[in-house]
Amino acid sequence: MSSIIQLLPDHVANQIAAGEVVQRPASVVKELLENAVDAKATDIKLILKDAGKSLVQVIDNGVGMSVTDARLCFERHATSKIRYAEDLFALSTKGFRGEALASIAAIAHVELKTKMEQDELGTNIVIEGSKFITQEPCVLPKGTSFSVKNLFFNIPARRNFLKSDTVELRHIIDEFQRVALAHPNIQFTMYHNGSEIYNLPSSNYRQRIVNTFSGKTNEKLVPVKEETEIVTIEGFVGKPEFSKKNRGEQFFFVNNRFIKSGYLHHAVMAAFEGLLKDGAQPSYFLYLNVPPNTIDINIHPTKTEIKFDDEHSLYAILRSTIKHSLGQFNVAPILDFDRDPNLDTPYQYKNKEAEYPTIQVDSSFNPFADEKPVKSSSSFSSGSSYKKSEVQPSWESLYVGLEQIQGEEFGTSSFETEAVSSSLFDDVETEHEAGRTFQIHKKYIFSTIKSGMLVINQGRAHQRILYEEFLTNITVNKAPSQQLLFPLELFYSVNEIEMIKELQVSLEALGFIFETINDDSLIISGIPVRATESQVSIVIDDLLNDLYQGISTDSYSLNDSIAKSLSKCLAIKTGTYLTEKEQESLVNNLFACKEPNITPFNKPTFITLSVDDLDKKFAL
Ligand code: ADP
Ligand code: MG
Repeated sequence: MSSIIQLLPDHVANQIAAGEVVQRPASVVKELLENAVDAKATDIKLILKDAGKSLVQVIDNGVGMSVTDARLCFERHATSKIRYAEDLFALSTKGFRGEALASIAAIAHVELKTKMEQDELGTNIVIEGSKFITQEPCVLPKGTSFSVKNLFFNIPARRNFLKSDTVELRHIIDEFQRVALAHPNIQFTMYHNGSEIYNLPSSNYRQRIVNTFSGKTNEKLVPVKEETEIVTIEGFVGKPEFSKKNRGEQFFFVNNRFIKSGYLHHAVMAAFEGLLKDGAQPSYFLYLNVPPNTIDINIHPTKTEIKFDDEHSLYAILRSTIKHSLGQFNVAPILDFDRDPNLDTPYQYKNKEAEYPTIQVDSSFNPFADEKPVKSSSSFSSGSSYKKSEVQPSWESLYVGLEQIQGEEFGTSSFETEAVSSSLFDDVETEHEAGRTFQIHKKYIFSTIKSGMLVINQGRAHQRILYEEFLTNITVNKAPSQQLLFPLELFYSVNEIEMIKELQVSLEALGFIFETINDDSLIISGIPVRATESQVSIVIDDLLNDLYQGISTDSYSLNDSIAKSLSKCLAIKTGTYLTEKEQESLVNNLFACKEPNITPFNKPTFITLSVDDLDKKFAL
């Protein structure tokens, strides 16, 4: 039999390679930006349409390419950056594998315009799905422009797999920030659908970080500096009090390349030991320089993971350097024998108790004097028909009629549940009406049913109730807001603000009122009835964090993710005492839900213990 193995044609090989290098528009952004940096550009523009799905364009003022190189650059393993295997260990460029452009050209419509300084004319090449369409001379300034249109046009499965524009843009911003932070001396601008998202002038590390995130960042940064034989470290860590729940602002750069390293992250966390609240994440922007021959960058196609020769020493140096910085800038307590005594507390204040300022409070003042006091301190509030007399000020009267209607609807819907579903709900309905619920350990609610008993996890049940309510608010009927007496000003980074803008419509449907949204802050004048003022920043932080983390989760829509995140954040927690009435309405509202038995995260909300189960226990 003749041989069956064949060499794959180039365009097929390129498409396969593209699978590794190009996962989404952000991968194209990364490769093109890095090529522009390697071309020694001092000004780089990134232009996007539809989160890069329709267009990713990068324009640089770098060295450009000759007419032949312009054509050659689309060949696989075509690179100007290395020649010999040894060069792999003396890398000073971002790229070296010579496969990015070949891969991108295999799965998109690409147009390249480029001119070198000394040439009269530039060249313009169009290539689609690895096929050369045209190459012609044209008049251009020095530099290169790559436009990548209709990414994955020939791989529909890949195209369909792309996430919403918000999510894809988020990935692009991540890549953009990584390259921009690594090269503060280069000017970067970014436009999305015609509006400018970033304009970062050439500057130093500190200024670049501040320009990339918010103006507020400056005061949060503690400088870090150390020089040893195996590594020089420069950069900043965030003061512990500004730590966040998410890991958004954590960056390692090794020889000006952004890298990911769980091991080095651990070293930083170890330096912060004892200074952070549980689960809090410090910001850091750390620039490490090591001799190129002590690292291996070529262990992953996207080159974000690298191998260090002497990881252990690096860990130790990093940890102690950061610890030292935190101590030196008085962020952490220190034990330092060379301490400057001038910085100590003046003698006359030593060992003196600080005087507490006194506050006069009119304890009889009650802004809602004609309202009943709210009994429970928890954020818990039951279904729409229950708590209205307890909670709110006069605007509520506007909704009175409405609520009655809702209350009736609620009645019918629980009736329906009863009619269509198993006898379990039948039981619940009749039994709880008799008022037989009780709470144990401020965690579980017991209720008797005909066949035995029901044990409800209060936090999970409330998640389910809130989740369905929020989804309805977003999709069907808008929730009312509570107006804040003093609008809240909250600060965010540029990209967080971008995310909030994308979420604005949904958040407004949930009761948020945004008075203004600036570049790095926003003013909120109304919040959902279900939330308290002090919860608002936590809710938004959690939401951004969840969306950030949840990029790869299975939430099929943004609204679903929002409802999930808010329900998790606002649901009553274990440890909250519930009055009998609250317990009762929790049970009622749970069984009025479409899917009462599981939380939005697929965890059981209650279990049943039948008399049979109990009998079995006693039979032992
Ligand atoms: P690599 O970056 O690994 O060399 P690429 O496929 O990304 O591989 O690019 C191939 C070659 O094309 C580069 O080595 C470089 O010579 C040239 N090139 C790519 N982008 C640019 C640019 N913006 N300016 C000048 N030359 C470029
Ligand atoms: Mg490259």
